[in-house]
Amino acid sequence: MEQLLTELQRIHVEWETDCPLSAHSSFRIGGPAALALFPDTREKLMNVLRILRAHQMPITVIGRASNVVFPDAGLRGAVLFTSKYRQIGMEDDGMYVSAGALSSTVANAARDASLTGAEFLYGLPGTVGGAVYMNAGAFGGCMEQICTESEYYDCDNGEIGTLRGTVHAFANRESVYQKHPEWVVLGARLQLKSGNRDQIAATMANFLERRRATQPLELPSAGSVFKRPAGHFAGKLIEDCGLKGMMVGGAQVSQKHAGFIVNRGDATAEDVRRLVEMVRETVWSRTGVSLECEIRFL
Ligand SMILES: Cc1cc2nc3c(=O)[nH]c(=O)nc-3n(C[C@H](O)[C@H](O)[C@H](O)COP(=O)(O)OP(=O)(O)OC[C@H]3O[C@@H](n4cnc5c(N)ncnc54)[C@H](O)[C@@H]3O)c2cc1C
Repeated sequence: MEQLLTELQRIHVEWETDCPLSAHSSFRIGGPAALALFPDTREKLMNVLRILRAHQMPITVIGRASNVVFPDAGLRGAVLFTSKYRQIGMEDDGMYVSAGALSSTVANAARDASLTGAEFLYGLPGTVGGAVYMNAGAFGGCMEQICTESEYYDCDNGEIGTLRGTVHAFANRESVYQKHPEWVVLGARLQLKSGNRDQIAATMANFLERRRATQPLELPSAGSVFKRPAGHFAGKLIEDCGLKGMMVGGAQVSQKHAGFIVNRGDATAEDVRRLVEMVRETVWSRTGVSLECEIRFL
């Protein structure tokens, strides 16, 4: 560990040992990480990955931890947060954004350049890397529609790769990145269209208002727990099964939106896992619909 830290010191990357992951997660859940790293440039990000790999350190790459549940016992090895690596480069018909750029910031930049297509990113609490990995979406928009290209660092061979178009294999909250844990998204090219700035701003304001009206934003969560099952809405199925407000420990099916599980203050990852299982079993036995988790238990 000492040798590793000396090498990290040389590249001037910010790090923290014994870092409480709950403090970095939108769910406010998780034990400590042996080592947490916060590179703020592409060079540092790649160097950190190279150094960690050379030391055979297990690596977990995280954006802003708004779709994950960290384990109560914490994580061995290194947790690399990309969320300080934020860059946006405007192009004629879109932009190139770094993995750690925040989704809302990207939407704001698109609006300021009178570019339409990224409005759905407004109010999403994560990073672009996380959005590509998850094919994040809302209000009819999703990454599949705008992400024409992405770049990644391959931890296995230290090379940079580029994916274009359908190779991303975007599907319902899925992308090819979920099949390649050795690939770390560095950035993405978003193709947008020119539009009317006032109209874009109005759409974004409307999306935010709808989030505020329907989602439990006042409590810690990781967003919608389940993917949308074909032909149904997860929240409606859960509500119809009478599960709104159900609690396990400090985890609760949100009273405001049954598709969310919220942390009432002292929820553990185990509470969330048990509640998720109870919800899945009840919905399955009463409706025959199998709910698939969108949030990722690490
Ligand atoms: C209140 C709230 C509302 C939400 N609303 C929505 C919504 O409307 N639509 C929606 O789709 N999601 C929603 N989410 C979930 C979440 O914000 C999105 O999925 C977001 O895109 C995740 O980004 P992140 O940076 O937080 O990813 P993280 O949670 O940090 O990571 C998610 C996954 O991506 C991987 N990952 C992250 N960055 C990289 C990278 N650079 N390279 C490789 N892998 C990476 C991680 O390992 C992890 O498996 C919501 C969450 C909250 C808390």
